[in-house]
This record gives sequence, C-alpha cells and structure tokens, in this order.
Amino acid sequence: MAELQLRSRSSSVARFSDEVIAAFQQELRGRLATPGSQDYEQARTIWNAMIDRRPALVVRCAGASDVMRAVRFARENDLLVAVRGGGHNIAGNAVCEGGLQIDLSLMKSVWVDPKGRTARVEPGATLADFDREAQAFGLATPLGINSTTGVAGLTLGGGFGWLSRGLGLTIDNLISADVVTANGELVRASETENPDLFWGIRGGGGNFGVVTSFEFKLHPVGPTVLAGLIVHPLDAAPEVMRFHREFVEKTPDDFVCWFVMRQAPPLPFLAPEWHGKEILALAVCYRGDIAEGERIAKPLREFGRPVADIIGPMPYTAWQTVLDPLLTPGARNYWKSHDFAGLSDGLIQVMMEHTRTIPDPQTEIACAQLGGAVSSVPRGATAYNHRDGKYVMNVHCRWADPAKDEACIAWARGLWKAAAPFATGSVYVNFLTQDEGERVREAYGENFDRLVELKNKYDPSNLFGVNQNIRPTV
Ligand SMILES: Cc1cc2nc3c(=O)[nH]c(=O)nc-3n(C[C@H](O)[C@H](O)[C@H](O)COP(=O)(O)OP(=O)(O)OC[C@H]3O[C@@H](n4cnc5c(N)ncnc54)[C@H](O)[C@@H]3O)c2cc1C
Repeated sequence: MAELQLRSRSSSVARFSDEVIAAFQQELRGRLATPGSQDYEQARTIWNAMIDRRPALVVRCAGASDVMRAVRFARENDLLVAVRGGGHNIAGNAVCEGGLQIDLSLMKSVWVDPKGRTARVEPGATLADFDREAQAFGLATPLGINSTTGVAGLTLGGGFGWLSRGLGLTIDNLISADVVTANGELVRASETENPDLFWGIRGGGGNFGVVTSFEFKLHPVGPTVLAGLIVHPLDAAPEVMRFHREFVEKTPDDFVCWFVMRQAPPLPFLAPEWHGKEILALAVCYRGDIAEGERIAKPLREFGRPVADIIGPMPYTAWQTVLDPLLTPGARNYWKSHDFAGLSDGLIQVMMEHTRTIPDPQTEIACAQLGGAVSSVPRGATAYNHRDGKYVMNVHCRWADPAKDEACIAWARGLWKAAAPFATGSVYVNFLTQDEGERVREAYGENFDRLVELKNKYDPSNLFGVNQNIRPTV
C-alpha cells in the first residue's frame, strides 16, 4: 500500500495511507496537490526565487470550510503547516519543507459595496484584484506598490502604500476579518467581536489563525490621480534631498513623495545616455484634485536639473502597477530594512555611497514616506506599533545568477549596518527576511508581550509557526 509522508512539528514523520488522503480529499471543495500533481509546482512556487521548498501535501482551498478542515487535519496529526496568501513574502513563509501547505491563492473574490463603501476580500486576492474591483466605483483602500502582492499577508503585517500618509495603514481600514483559529473553528474578529484577536491580526501576521475573509473600509480615490517620477543624477542627491526634506513637511498628507536610488533601467522616458547610470528617482502621488496636486508639486518639479519628469494625471490602477515590471516574480531577492524618523545628510550619504557599489542593475534602495494618518493612530491601538517612523528604507537587493548570492547579500547587509546609526531601531515585519527571526521582537517593540499573551490564548501549541513567529510561552 502506498503512503504519503509528511513532516510533523516534532520533526518526526507522519505517514498516511492512500485511503486516508482520499478521504481527506472527499471532505474538500478544493483539491489536494502532491509532488507530481499538475498544479503542485504552481502552488509551491513563490515570488522570491531564493526559496525552493517542497511541501509534501498542498490543500488548494476553495473556501473557509476547506481551511477549517485543513487546520483540523494538521492539528490532529501534529503537522508542520505553512499558509500561503499571495506568496509574495520575501522570507518565504508561504511554503514549508515536507509539511502541509494551506494554499489560499485560489480564493480570490472581491465584493464591493459601493454605497456602504466597504469591500469583502478573500485571502488569495492580489492588490490588483482588489484595486480593479474597488476602482470600478472610484474607491480604494491603502495597499502596497506592487500589484501582484497578496492582500492577506500585506494586511496582516500592517500594509502601506501611496495612500497611507493620507488614509493610514491597510489595517487602519480593516473593519473585520473571519479567522480560522488553531482548533479549526471560524470566528469573527472586529472592534466588537473578539477585539483582542482583532488587535493582534492588525500587524501580528498569521500567528493567530488563518484569515478567510477581510472586510475593508473604502475611500473615494481617483479614478485619476496625479502621479509620476522626477529623475535626478545621483550626484545631485544631497541638494535634492535637502530640498525634499523641507518640501514634504509643508505638503498635505494626501501628497506623498517616496524615493529610489539605483542604476537607471532602460525605460523609454529616460534618454539612452542615462541607462545604467546611477540616479535618484522621486516618486510622487496625490489623490486629490489634479490642479491642486500640480500646484503642490510645482516647487519639487522646478528644483535642480532633473533628467526626466513624467508627473501627470493617470489612472490610479495604472499607477498601482507602474513598478510591476521592475518587481517581477522569479528573481533572487534579499532585503534589509530600517525605519527612520528623518532623512539626515549622513544617511543620504550612506545610501549614495552604496548605490555606487550596487551589485546588480536590478537592485535598488527604496524609501517610503509615511507619517500623517499612520502616525495619528496611537501606538498600542494595533499590534503594528511603529507609528512614528516617517520613512521606511527597504534595500531591495535583487539579482538572477545564484553565483552572485554571497556578494549581493553581503552588500545589502553592509548598507543596513552603515545606515543603522540613523535608524529608529524598529522594523516592518513584512520586510524581514528568513534569517531575521530575532528581529521579530524589534518589529513589535512594546506590543511584543501582549502578542505573546494572545499567542498563548489562541495558538498555545504554535500550530501557526511558519511565519515571523511569536512563540507561545505556555
Ligand atoms: C515586490 C514587493 C513589494 C512590496 N511592497 C509592499 C508595499 O508597498 N507595502 C507593504 O506594506 N508591503 C509590501 N511588500 C511586503 C508584503 O506586504 C509582504 O511580502 C506580504 O507578506 C505579502 O503578502 P502575501 O499574501 O503575498 O504573502 P505570503 O507569502 O503568502 O504570506 C506572507 C505571510 O503571511 C501569512 N499569511 C498569508 N495569508 C494569510 C492568511 N490568510 N491568514 C493567515 N496568515 C496568512 C503567511 O503564512 C506568511 O507568513 C512588498 C513585497 C514585495 C515582494
């Protein structure tokens, strides 16, 4: 008789006969995949090509009932479990070696209530899925900047993008969520139902259960926004960033200006002589009236001698996908991240120096601007706690050739170390790589102990342990 072997959490092996697996399949609306099944490779392959893990069994869930059954099967058999939303996370926790993968990526529905300005979103939906549905009604909630990212993982870590300075984090717009807890039951988490769980899932990742549905508040956005890039030579960065520092303080919260340092990709709006040269790109987005946005952006656009300026009105959905070609799946990626309260000359110098030694043309140093509505939420109000970091640097180290792994990782770590004296000490949990488990405490700061208490209550055996893990203490 054939048998399927799965890794259990105690690292021993759990064995299942064909009959047991067939009976499990019978209970599901979705389907099981094992190595060799048609859709197995698709289910286990995630955005970061550095992660190459092979689960022994994948539950390709079709709905909440499948998730409940999968969680019960895993708990009863003490299996190693990973949960996959959009499969975008850099650390690769969407997939585990030899265990059971609960794959939510087929659960992609987005249901918008245009009158009530809310949306119900399933956990396999990407940002593109959500934006497309909500923008049909001129609505949106703050999400990230790469449209293939999963709504689920992004939300559970906090979530921020172009709209966040004005409208808060993604979690600040979460009304409720349906969660399958470690005992396989489905509960609602909101301000009024299981409020402790609601607090925890707003930043605490997948530590407390599997979310099968998110309910979000929506806001009028676009459908046309003012957005685009201003590109300067890297050498001009000290003056431009000094100007930027004061400029952004005076702009309304609905106006954001992020920046990137990198080698210029061969984009059609850049003169060919700039391709491959080091640049500073300012990325602007304003969701209000276009003429007002033009007025606000004018001094920034007039400063210095940019080599390109492509700021203009564009569909919000187009702006939400504009960086996709630079962030395609399948590359090798290693990230390092810091939060900053401000952008000092010294910090800009460190970033510039490292841009000059960038190990691969795909690599970039990106810096998001937060503050505003993100900072107006009290620190302890959600598990995401770093409300006062105004800038988040993410070193997107990215390359194709495995032979470059060591050099690229060393470069990213070097930049991170050099920038550390300027950082607040906090970090966004969604930007942690697989070797940064020790930074989970930093990611939660003063909220960490409360998260441990919550873990003890909702998942005392750490069934949901393949993530940026908050370990139970019971
Ligand atoms: C190119 C790129 C750009 C990014 N840009 C931004 C950005 O602009 N803003 C931002 O805030 N973040 C950004 N991120 C980070 C992103 O938020 C995280 O990678 C996020 O975890 C991705 O979610 P996912 O569902 O795709 O990931 P997955 O890898 O599927 O999941 C991530 C984690 O969440 C858990 N999880 C997923 N779904 C569920 C669920 N339903 N229930 C319980 N646990 C679950 C997984 O087990 C895993 O531990 C970016 C990431 C990439 C790769």
